[in-house]
Amino acid sequence: MTGLPGSASPTIHPPRQIDPGRLEVGRRLFAQQSEFIAGAAQPSTLPPDRLPEIAFAGRSNVGKSSLINALTGRRMLARISNTPGRTRQINFFDLGGRLQLVDLPGYGYADAPKSAIKSWTSLARGYLRGRAALRRVFLLIDSRHGIKEVDLPLMGMLDDAGVSYQIVLTKADKTGPGELAPVLERLTAELPRHAAAHPEIHLTSAAKRSGIAELRASIADFAVPAEQ
Ligand code: GDP
Repeated sequence: MTGLPGSASPTIHPPRQIDPGRLEVGRRLFAQQSEFIAGAAQPSTLPPDRLPEIAFAGRSNVGKSSLINALTGRRMLARISNTPGRTRQINFFDLGGRLQLVDLPGYGYADAPKSAIKSWTSLARGYLRGRAALRRVFLLIDSRHGIKEVDLPLMGMLDDAGVSYQIVLTKADKTGPGELAPVLERLTAELPRHAAAHPEIHLTSAAKRSGIAELRASIADFAVPAEQ
């Protein structure tokens, strides 16, 4: 599918065709071992950036753990991030020695105390500002609801820090075409207002595993190339 009409249209993956060679590069990258490296609950304990890095962010319950599981095929990864005590920290994973995957803590809990919001903000800001290795943030948005008020502070932070970010719509299996069209329309209007937002959008379902191969291919663009 192409984007919506107009010059600022986002491009939606899938079903736009991605070159099979790129899909294969993505498949191979994610077939490699991934392991937990470190967790940081405050900016002072962030691990050094040794490899190119991509990060996943989104409000709680958006489907971030499910998507990371679908990408890596390893339940362990997201389970680590959901372990009590680790849900409020940034978790770092190594993927085959070629890329670092970063799981930012979820935000937007309805009953979050002010202190929790403050510490989330200082942690996220500390990470985003000084991370030379960070190539892109994949911002997960529920495909039924689109961008919400709770997503705007992070988008603002990414714009300010000049960190490139890209929308990944989740739970596509729950969204009918009639529901998706207005969400895409709002995104088309919103994204050009954000300096660091990438115009390409991924449409995924962890449950049906749709869009996963395409997202892997996109992520693989940032990895250290495999040795021949
Ligand atoms: P997180 O809080 O962002 O890590 O979200 P989770 O991955 O734990 O998912 C939150 C809820 O959404 C769970 O009940 C999941 O089963 C459900 N969910 C996640 N991904 C999908 C999906 O692709 N399709 C459907 N139908 N449900 C999903």
